[in-house]
Amino acid sequence: MAKVIKSVESMMKLSDGFRKKGLSIGLVPTMGCLHKGHISLVKEAKKRNDIVVVSIFVNPTQFGPREDLKKYPRDMKRDLKLLSRYKVNAVFFPAAKEMYPNGYGADVEVKRLSDKLCGASRPGHFKGVTTIVAKLFNIVRPDNAYFGEKDFQQQVIIRKMVRDLNMGVKIISMPIVREKDGLAMSSRNTYLSNEDRIKALVINGSLKFAKMLVNSGVRSSVKIKAAMTKLMRTAKGLKIDYISICDPETLDEKSVIKGKTLIATAIYIGKTRLIDNIVVN
Ligand code: AMP
Repeated sequence: MAKVIKSVESMMKLSDGFRKKGLSIGLVPTMGCLHKGHISLVKEAKKRNDIVVVSIFVNPTQFGPREDLKKYPRDMKRDLKLLSRYKVNAVFFPAAKEMYPNGYGADVEVKRLSDKLCGASRPGHFKGVTTIVAKLFNIVRPDNAYFGEKDFQQQVIIRKMVRDLNMGVKIISMPIVREKDGLAMSSRNTYLSNEDRIKALVINGSLKFAKMLVNSGVRSSVKIKAAMTKLMRTAKGLKIDYISICDPETLDEKSVIKGKTLIATAIYIGKTRLIDNIVVN
């Protein structure tokens, strides 16, 4: 079983020890309820670092007041069993009070990028993300940190935070891991009923359709969005939060598709919010 560390002090000491021995450290930050998407990050980290630390922390500051913090899926026993298979060196599993003790007052925020796409419908979400990731970087002090392109905007914002604040951590992004039928793996997929699970296929379906349209010469974002919307509307009860066609670095909307372009979407099926994206060139 991987070593579970619950206190910030012990984690810092352990990491210091590794560093003093000249060992490289890879960090994989997660909120637990691990699936193959998370494991792809762990595997890559194992390949490139002497030591791999996985953090499991359902970070309260990145959830809005009406979001699913309380019911977010948690399964530490299963997670630890899975991680021990990959010979992870340490699992950092702090309590909320350990990360945000009484009187806690510091925030890390990346302006502008944090207000777009998911940030527009989840105000404060990315401030919570950058704050916790900055704290994890300070505690673990990894050489490399691994993030999934499933949360495309998140890794863009973290890269910007690292650049702007001169944090000496290399950010590595890994491709989206999908179920066989194309649904992007997500801990939140566990919320879906069988019926909703089928409806959710339209998310990746519409992104693939968009890509096909781009490849066949359609350049108008309005047209692509209209085609995606029409397809998504075939799933009854599915609500589109946003469809964005934007620059993959600045996240600025593009009206004409030219060069590397991110097509990202967020939808609701009932109360479940799911995201997915595709990059077209
Ligand atoms: P989470 O536990 O949802 O906060 O995710 C932890 C990390 O795993 C983030 O960097 C996510 O982008 C990444 N991740 C989640 N789902 C996937 C997926 N299907 N494919 C690749 N990476 C993923």
